[in-house]
Amino acid sequence: MTVTIYFDNSATTPVDPRVVEAMAPWRGKAFGNPSSLHSLGRRAREAVETARAEVAALLRAQPKEIVFTASGTEADNLALKGAFETAQPARRLIVSAIEHPAVLETARALSSRGAELLLAPVDPDGLVDLDWLAACLTTETRLVSIMAANNVIGVVEPLAAIAPRVKAAGALMHTDAVQAAGKIPIDVRSLPVDLLSLSAHKLHGPKGVGALYVREGVKLQPLIHGGGQERGLRSATENVAGVVGFGRAAEIARKEMAADDARLIALRDRLIEGVLAGCPQAYLIGHAERRLPGHVSLGFAGQEGEAIRLLLALDEADVAASTGSACSASHAAEPSYVLQALGFDPFRARGALRLTLGRFNTRDEVERVIELLPRLVGGLRPIAAARR
Ligand code: PLP
Repeated sequence: MTVTIYFDNSATTPVDPRVVEAMAPWRGKAFGNPSSLHSLGRRAREAVETARAEVAALLRAQPKEIVFTASGTEADNLALKGAFETAQPARRLIVSAIEHPAVLETARALSSRGAELLLAPVDPDGLVDLDWLAACLTTETRLVSIMAANNVIGVVEPLAAIAPRVKAAGALMHTDAVQAAGKIPIDVRSLPVDLLSLSAHKLHGPKGVGALYVREGVKLQPLIHGGGQERGLRSATENVAGVVGFGRAAEIARKEMAADDARLIALRDRLIEGVLAGCPQAYLIGHAERRLPGHVSLGFAGQEGEAIRLLLALDEADVAASTGSACSASHAAEPSYVLQALGFDPFRARGALRLTLGRFNTRDEVERVIELLPRLVGGLRPIAAARR
């Protein structure tokens, strides 16, 4: 079946054709190993280093501070486990209650190995509680991990307020910027984070390649030992085509972010306004202003348990959307821990509809969904009512 309207850009983005073009030679004749000394190898090394400089430029970092990984999940694991496995007495690990499982489950694994794990609460808009954080930041704290933007509700966390406090307490600051990078400006020269995770497939790059920004001077233990690639932090022959695609995607995102964002914010706001006007039971989830440019998360009062039916009805109408995180598809019928952290009861926490727009979405698509949703939501009503 052809998906004609793709509104699931937080799960993954279509690869930009310019990225596909940049990757093509590295999937064919330019197959050298970047560690080889002959010219094929040297060309591959040059391509990897050019991509590293582009990924660094997206964050205003230095190229040597970028470590390529095989995913955002791996970057998160390297940040948390890598920091905890260095010899230090402080045992406290603070992560927000709404982190992606790549952070949350890694933190839980560390807690089973002796870390003292605290989950930072969020307010009903999804913003981390700064007073709670200030009270829990003791000299015992080794690492704080708060995401730059949330994957389920699209809320942008106040990192500019959080990171300096964490640094003042002497702890390491990590942020999972997998959803934020390429969508909102990030400048590590003014934002005092030590570690920051990225993933190429969320910014119109290929799947299976990520990166961890490691501020100069920050010491980590590698997860993967071997030939010493990536400054010894991530051994393995580099995924040259993937890394080249990531570099090109980062370059496009950096150069076109301002224009893309202006367009996406207008589309997002039109979508929110249109759906709220057409469906009286609809409500917006997450902070109204502090949200990613293309991100819309909605609930439908009284019908929250029907979110999956709504999703399937949309799919039948050739609209690809989501109920929340793609990574929780197997738990799709269960209440979302993210919504519960916002204070939703377990019934309401089963019911988000996530519509996430990206570079290739159009105004016509937004209008089509605005027209379609009231009918589909209306069609669910008797079922939802009968079940309550
Ligand atoms: N962190 C966040 C916030 C995400 O949204 C995702 C993917 O959905 C990840 C981490 C994992 O990234 P990857 O799919 O590259 O492993």
